Amino acid sequence: MEDKFSDLRINAERFQQDFEAISHIGSSGDGGVDRPAFSDAHLAARTWFRQRIEDAGLTFRLDGAGNHSGFLKCSAENAPTLLLGSHLDSVPKGGRFDGALGVLAALEVLRVIHEAGLHLPTNLEAIDFSDEEGRLVGLMGSNAVAGSLSEKDLAKPAGGRSALLDGLLRAGLNEAGILSAKRDPSTLAGFLELHIEQGPRLEQESLDIGVVTTMTGICLYNLKFTGRADHSGTTPMHQRLDASLGASNFVLSASTMVTEKFLNCTVNVGSIELMPGASNIVPQCASLILELRAPELDTLNRLESTLLELANHKAGYHKLKLEAEFIEKHPPNTMDIGVQGVIRNAASSLGLSHINLYSGAFHDAEVIARICPAGMIFVPSQGGASHSPREFTPWKDCMNGANVLLNATLRLATSQIN
Ligand SMILES: [Zn+2]
Repeated sequence: MEDKFSDLRINAERFQQDFEAISHIGSSGDGGVDRPAFSDAHLAARTWFRQRIEDAGLTFRLDGAGNHSGFLKCSAENAPTLLLGSHLDSVPKGGRFDGALGVLAALEVLRVIHEAGLHLPTNLEAIDFSDEEGRLVGLMGSNAVAGSLSEKDLAKPAGGRSALLDGLLRAGLNEAGILSAKRDPSTLAGFLELHIEQGPRLEQESLDIGVVTTMTGICLYNLKFTGRADHSGTTPMHQRLDASLGASNFVLSASTMVTEKFLNCTVNVGSIELMPGASNIVPQCASLILELRAPELDTLNRLESTLLELANHKAGYHKLKLEAEFIEKHPPNTMDIGVQGVIRNAASSLGLSHINLYSGAFHDAEVIARICPAGMIFVPSQGGASHSPREFTPWKDCMNGANVLLNATLRLATSQIN
């Protein structure tokens, strides 16, 4: 990289002031923020971001899916655009770093490059993707940009149809606009997202930067254990066909099995319903949602078949019937190899330690990776906490991540992939 680029650094004071300012918008008073998509707090954060873009002399852009951007045009005509960013919405009662750190770092990168008067052959765009956390559709803004949403998806959104319509109305958006936000991949040079790790690995190994290699694959099933309803006081214990026992035994055994035999994988049962659901009736039916994640496709497949076999075994042991209804499966996604190399070189050139990591969570980068080369930079999360007010990243690590984002941006924008 040219010398005049390599000395460029984020403006630490301005970046921190901005981060503190946005942390107050929707503050939950305990260190966290409550900014679900298109809530009053989220709309206020979007207005604040727009103001900061305009104050910096960047061009403000809004697309039909509600994505907010600051744009820095280069002098070349028809140049592609390098996207940088993340999201300003949060889960209810979430942390202040998740998403906001990446959006503000992207804005700061554009400001530093703009002030330095660098003439890059690539346009730069700092983007805040709408509804990443799933209050309405989930990853709505990035999916709209990638052209991955259809009218059918909007008819049955994750958060329900009325929440979507209400949210769009509040933000001054409409469904046709969402579908129009699709970008032509030939206009994009790539995408970089800085994000907190949301897990404990970087902190445990005292490392500065995580280079994301893969987004974990995920698979979901609805498992229904069926036995027989009986009087809870008169039916002897050995004569019961209690569906809750099959489900409980399965949940405990699945947790032990994945902990011991499937390193880097997870299993979660986040919902169990017992029917008929009264204190004096032996449960006839136990219905649960099984979610499993693995960083490689073969492991995901093996985990899926092993857990289904385990559920069958536990149903048989308790003399229950098992129905396994497949919901969905998404294979792991690899981040662009060239962009991974750029991030590694950026971290090394700044004297920062780094390691390859897979991501156990979903991010906008995974979606944008469908249409252009994309990469993610992780910084440590204290105690691995996230989606909680306990979420915390020391400021030194936030600065390191933002400087890696700046350095990687300069490398990508000048096409120095290696
Ligand atoms: Zn996030």
